[in-house]
Amino acid sequence: MDEIKIHGDTFIPYITFEELEHGIKMMANTIHQEYKGEIPIFVGVLNGVVMFMSDFLKQYKGDCEISFLQMKSYEGKESTGKVRQLMDIPMDITNRHVVIMEDIVDTGNTLEALYNAISKKPVKSLKVATLLYKPDAYKKDLNIDYIAMSIPDKFVVGYGLDYDGLGRNLPDIYQIKGDSDL
Ligand code: 5GP
Repeated sequence: MDEIKIHGDTFIPYITFEELEHGIKMMANTIHQEYKGEIPIFVGVLNGVVMFMSDFLKQYKGDCEISFLQMKSYEGKESTGKVRQLMDIPMDITNRHVVIMEDIVDTGNTLEALYNAISKKPVKSLKVATLLYKPDAYKKDLNIDYIAMSIPDKFVVGYGLDYDGLGRNLPDIYQIKGDSDL
């Protein structure tokens, strides 16, 4: 893989699809073991989760349902801290086991807002899964139940993650070049 440019910034190859696939498969098996005999609802957070959710579901060998909702907190390379929920879960989750599926947890603002919104509903259980987790950036106490990969506090694109709208279709993950560009 070569360096790429998006909106004038340079990104270097960071995590290959094969590495992601390995982490996703392990996560799918772990979650399947924990929900044996149950039909969990996997709630994906759009848009970044599309590739992860698709590959995760192909690896999840039990019965499940899926749903999506949309949140927004990032402008360019910065988390704004102000999280907006752009839509509600379009299905009844009463008395159901729900797993929030995130592409990446950074400060945790988005996750916390979402978790608080869903936990107001009468669900049977609520857990959190994320493809990528930035432990050095995380500011919340909320436990993240399933993590495919932990990464340093640097901006990444690809595999669903964008930089101002671009880069979501890259099959692998790239990291921004340069130490000052967090
Ligand atoms: P948080 O609210 O945890 O700070 O950020 C969560 C959201 O910000 C993620 O769902 C994702 O959309 C975006 N985000 C956080 N870190 C990154 C990153 O390194 N790259 C990209 N492309 N988006 C990120």
